[in-house]
Amino acid sequence: MFEKILIANRGEIALRVIRACREMGIKSVAVHSTADADAMHVRMADESVCIGPAPSSESYLSKAAVISACEITGAQAVHPGYGFLSENAAFAQALEDHGITFIGPSAEHIRIMGDKITAKETAKALGIPVVPGSDGGVPDFETAIGVAEGIGFPVIVKATAGGGGRGMKVAKSAEELEIAFRTARAEAKAAFGNDEVYIEKYLQKPRHIEIQVFGDGKGNALHLGERDCSLQRRHQKVFEEAPGPVITPKMRAEIGAVCANAVAKIAYIGAGTVEFLYEDGQFYFIEMNTRLQVEHPVTEYIFGVDLVREQIRVAAGLPMSFGQDELEINGHAIEVRINAERLPTFAPCPGKVRTFHAPGGLGVRMDSALYGGYTIPPYYDSLIGKLIVHGRDRPEALSRLRRALGELIVDGVETTVPLFDALLAEPDIQNGDYNIHWLEKWLAKQFS
Ligand code: ADP
Repeated sequence: MFEKILIANRGEIALRVIRACREMGIKSVAVHSTADADAMHVRMADESVCIGPAPSSESYLSKAAVISACEITGAQAVHPGYGFLSENAAFAQALEDHGITFIGPSAEHIRIMGDKITAKETAKALGIPVVPGSDGGVPDFETAIGVAEGIGFPVIVKATAGGGGRGMKVAKSAEELEIAFRTARAEAKAAFGNDEVYIEKYLQKPRHIEIQVFGDGKGNALHLGERDCSLQRRHQKVFEEAPGPVITPKMRAEIGAVCANAVAKIAYIGAGTVEFLYEDGQFYFIEMNTRLQVEHPVTEYIFGVDLVREQIRVAAGLPMSFGQDELEINGHAIEVRINAERLPTFAPCPGKVRTFHAPGGLGVRMDSALYGGYTIPPYYDSLIGKLIVHGRDRPEALSRLRRALGELIVDGVETTVPLFDALLAEPDIQNGDYNIHWLEKWLAKQFS
């Protein structure tokens, strides 16, 4: 087992990894930018290294700085968290070249899944159902029209290198497609330096259902059921739950087995998420994330496992500590993402937190790096915490969430808490009756 792990991240996810390390008797190293010298992850780790100035391009995204920090501290492995370098194949490769273990999949698997067209082709070849669409990249508008007429409007133009919901445009007609094609390419070029796009059938009322998979790198793999992450704003998840309100045990077992078999076949190592759109009883693959997800705690709650611990174990060459037949769902879990944002525009709202009080009690988990007196810097993501609750069933989880939100105090900055208070009063949310468009429509109605 590793003696020392460096965490190439910040915020709540850095704390999450430090906590797992501490329980496993492993020393932790935090890295931070100059803007994060007073951050909680720096205080909580056993050691810390400043790796550069505030902009993440010069600190958290600097491969050289992170590798130097490993060398200075003697860290044997790096946990990348999510975001930043977590899906950077060149980083995984560079670590390997330096004899440092990347706690995540191989550079090759990251590369395959990071390119959405290759990912889709790979998924298809591994027996995973995909969304109908173009065979690979669409080079020009004439080809785009041909594809769209073949599968029928509406269609969605997506960036091959896409992520975070950027470079995606919907078109309902040939006229709209001309604009969508041009703007998606321009956006993709600006955001990812790669203007390749592809086309998919635009599903009208799907749910976003993702399957948590896990492999040991030796051809053994399992699944930990699904998460329903359909409540999204601008293609970004805000509320996630497990199990999915509309997924039956039979469906779970079937799609779970398809995904687990697929990752076993490629000897995938570590945690992964196979993302699907789900409509009328059918699953359609959209992408695979080769890392721990923000919303992993809902899965941890219902299965009673520690996914970060498992990531560290398999990276160290150990087997997973449980098998598929030992995994049984217990109750229901919900996560809400608390962002420092001002409603109704969702404009980032960094600044000084005067008071912070985390809710507690039975079935409540608050993953946050906030503390009273902390100043949220303006340079990074606006996620300041995740509130996760667990109940014996969905109604109990919902009432626990309502209660816990009421206990949470974040004084000094505005947050998305009022959004969740309002959502919990909605019958559709109470009944689990929503799809990926529900939240946008609801927001338009609230604030029009
Ligand atoms: P990103 O990597 O940018 O997050 P994804 O491919 O994961 O992009 O898609 C993000 C979200 O965009 C999905 O959860 C869904 O809400 C929407 N989306 C993507 N593809 C389609 C599609 N074919 N039809 C309808 N909605 C889609």
